[in-house]
Amino acid sequence: MAHQDSFDHKEAQNQLRRFFAGMPRQIPLLLFSVPDVNAPFTDGIRKVVATIGEVTDQVTLQEYPLDHDFARQRGIIASPTLVFAVDPLDIRWLGAPLGHEIQTFMEALAIIGRGEPGLSEPAAKELAKLDEPRKIKVFVSPSCPYCPQAAVDAIRLAVARPELVSLEIIDIQANPELADRYEAHSVPQIFANDHLIYLGAPSQELLVASLVALEPRSYFIPDSDAEEIDCDLLIVGGGPAGLTAGIYANRSGLKTVVVEKGALGGQIAITPMVENYPGFTQVGGQTLVDILVSHALEYVDIFPGEEVQEIVRGNKFMITTNRRRYQARAVLLATGAAVRHLGVPGEQRLAGRGISYCSTCDGQLFIGKKVIIVGGGDSAVTDALHLHQIGVQVTLVHRRDKLRAQQRLITALEQSSITVMYNTTVVEILGKARVESVRLHDSATGEDFNMAFDGVFIAIGYSPAVDLAESLGAELTPDGYIKRDQGHRTTVPGLYSAGDVEGGAKQIVTAAGQGAEAALAIFEDLVNPYWVDQQSGD
Ligand code: NAP
Repeated sequence: MAHQDSFDHKEAQNQLRRFFAGMPRQIPLLLFSVPDVNAPFTDGIRKVVATIGEVTDQVTLQEYPLDHDFARQRGIIASPTLVFAVDPLDIRWLGAPLGHEIQTFMEALAIIGRGEPGLSEPAAKELAKLDEPRKIKVFVSPSCPYCPQAAVDAIRLAVARPELVSLEIIDIQANPELADRYEAHSVPQIFANDHLIYLGAPSQELLVASLVALEPRSYFIPDSDAEEIDCDLLIVGGGPAGLTAGIYANRSGLKTVVVEKGALGGQIAITPMVENYPGFTQVGGQTLVDILVSHALEYVDIFPGEEVQEIVRGNKFMITTNRRRYQARAVLLATGAAVRHLGVPGEQRLAGRGISYCSTCDGQLFIGKKVIIVGGGDSAVTDALHLHQIGVQVTLVHRRDKLRAQQRLITALEQSSITVMYNTTVVEILGKARVESVRLHDSATGEDFNMAFDGVFIAIGYSPAVDLAESLGAELTPDGYIKRDQGHRTTVPGLYSAGDVEGGAKQIVTAAGQGAEAALAIFEDLVNPYWVDQQSGD
């Protein structure tokens, strides 16, 4: 085993060496800190930079006390603060690059070290419109799988327009007071000139549009001269169904592209622990995503952060995303499902202010605090166990007298000290600037009552994401899922579906199976298009 470890360490070092090879710019890092404040974060920075220092001398670390003149001149007051001291950039990290944020840090070094922002053409064009200064703050957490996308894209903007754009990446765990001041109680959240411009991780193009407008933008259509890609199959959705379909389609010889509007992996990315995926008794959700994505990348082009805005069906499908246009002979919708909302007063207003739909992302912010989890399925119980394990005081609130989660999870719940309130529904979520209490209704007694909580985690299932299917006129089932045949053909010729958007068992393994089946049917149909026969028979 020791032999194996030393081999892995060498291999990791070789990969790092290749990463830094040929990087033209030196990156001096300046670390400002106070010994007793956030010491684990300061040590975390030292360790990360020391590991990098073993393979390259392009990245150096210089330490200063927080009361040093350099800190005063730069207005630095948080310990630790890491400055990327490359002129004329103004990019700082408040906290340490740990967990998922290691990815952000490595990408930051690559972007800054090469001096290439790596913005898409539409995003670069939009950014060129900016003519006033912007101070960006991105609140992140090491446990948030969506945060690297938000932080890395913000780095690209600060590198592309250093004369106007400065950036602070703020680890919410190391800087809870700053998070309180901005009322940022979920991650990622992006502010510019102290205005909230995005709750969540936008695409590059939406981030730039929101930055220029100084308010959230939800729609971005590129100019008509944007890049156009011709392919056999466009897959919408980078969860297990879409990625598996991509592997199968490409291996069948179809030129295939996968676009995913957010982070890859779909719901797995925010599942703390996946149970019963064949081959694994238990596996961390993000670990499974990493394995799946690196497998799929062997075969197929995958574009995360790319959202389909419109699909028009003619001889081929014409697809417009926030980044480019595609012509495709077939489209597979593996769009999954969107989190279900409770729809109670206070939910929208306090979203990101103590209300969360992602225990993996935001759980750390509630350690030592009191929260409720709403729901009675696998997600609610998995999330309750995860939060309990990391030190959050959890109460599970379920509307019926029986949970629908797997027995194994229910047993684990019963063996924990988590309080469960049955026959209870949430009537309203209350609080001025953040969640302070919840109004509950006991359906057994008919009584309403208030209880004080710091947070509300909502895990009441998902609604199928069928907007694109509906826009193309595809029929839905009475339950609102996409109607399809055994080959995953929808009622629109050339349009297919796979995964949770079709309903069914909604397990990772079934989604992967549906993706594989759909890809095989698409291959057969493109070789021998049934819709041509239909048209000639008309
Ligand atoms: P789910 O199974 O649909 O459960 C949703 C829960 O929320 C139900 O208990 C439901 O109550 C409750 N609910 C729905 N609407 C509500 C409302 N308006 N107010 C209050 N409560 C409401 O969803 P899920 O737990 O997210 O699971 C989704 C899928 O992912 C499932 O197939 C599950 O097996 C899978 N999953 C698997 C794992 C794993 O490790 N294997 C982990 C997580 C999820 P009722 O019971 O009264 O209907």
